[in-house]
Amino acid sequence: MLDYEIIKKMPKIELHCHLDGSLRYNSVIEEAKKQNIDLKLTENEIKEKLIAPKECESLDRYLESFELPLKVMQTSDSLKRFTYEVFEDSYKEGIVYMELRFAPVLHMDNGMTMKEIIRAVIEGMKNAEKKYGIYGNIILCCMKNYDEKYAIETIEAGKDYLGKGVVGIDLAGPELEGFSKKFKNSIRLAKNYGYYITIHAGEAASGNNVYESIKLLGAQRIGHGVRTFESSKAYNAIKNKEVFLEVCPSSNIQTKAVKNLKTHPFIDYYKDDIHMSFNTDNRTVSDTTLSKEIFLAGSIIGLSLDDYKKMYYNTVGASFALESTKNKLLNKMELFYKNLKGGIFYE
Ligand SMILES: [Zn+2]
Repeated sequence: MLDYEIIKKMPKIELHCHLDGSLRYNSVIEEAKKQNIDLKLTENEIKEKLIAPKECESLDRYLESFELPLKVMQTSDSLKRFTYEVFEDSYKEGIVYMELRFAPVLHMDNGMTMKEIIRAVIEGMKNAEKKYGIYGNIILCCMKNYDEKYAIETIEAGKDYLGKGVVGIDLAGPELEGFSKKFKNSIRLAKNYGYYITIHAGEAASGNNVYESIKLLGAQRIGHGVRTFESSKAYNAIKNKEVFLEVCPSSNIQTKAVKNLKTHPFIDYYKDDIHMSFNTDNRTVSDTTLSKEIFLAGSIIGLSLDDYKKMYYNTVGASFALESTKNKLLNKMELFYKNLKGGIFYE
């Protein structure tokens, strides 16, 4: 079993983290002042609003915790700052590679174009990469509750940045039964342009959504996929290693996708050798870190260091990083392992 102190020091990879759910409270307060936005809340109330209740009534209540952060994320400078800070926080807890996701359409209130928005987030990430040597990539989210034309707009806007910071497309937001059909054309367009595809599915709705995300949208990874077991076809695709699961333990309890961690289906998936990684989903909204998530989930399945190494290797394989970056990430783990076996921690 992995000790929390070792987990904090291990090289880690985060594939599923939302920018707007991962802001520092103090930065939200500072940005509101700087931008002359009256949030009509005390500082304590702001903190409370940014964290969703430990158990929300639903995914929809959980999503309400994103309204406040979005108010202060409508300028290029604030996007750069918040992105930089998420990467900085991640680096400080031993993350060596992170795919950060966000929905450009949610940042257009002050008139920024999608391209300006995407450029600001890439710049924030590049600044952190330069300072800390962490590697990063951006996944653009299209919102399931918006018309498909916004998804197409997002895909078109991000196209020029593919390979320059942007790697993937995601569908996020409230999950309705059968949502994949609505986005068939847009996600096909994204695939043709060369985006990698990851889709939120099987979180608030059925395993059939996981199946349709794979079948109709060509998802290479599934965000959550809690209810994959409900669809034997979806389960087989994941079992055959065609598709990788991004598991977000604490978030799933908060949104009531599962009752508690002990009954989370990921335990059976893991035992059945399904490839997955653990993720925060939202660092602030879920009040968590990746080290905490690995500790929580790892404790339940009795994750050993060798198990973790295997999971890390699979995660590198499922990441949307360049081959050259993947090799560097593998080397980081080898170095850690070598030093650990010699009794010295790599810092
Ligand atoms: Zn998510």
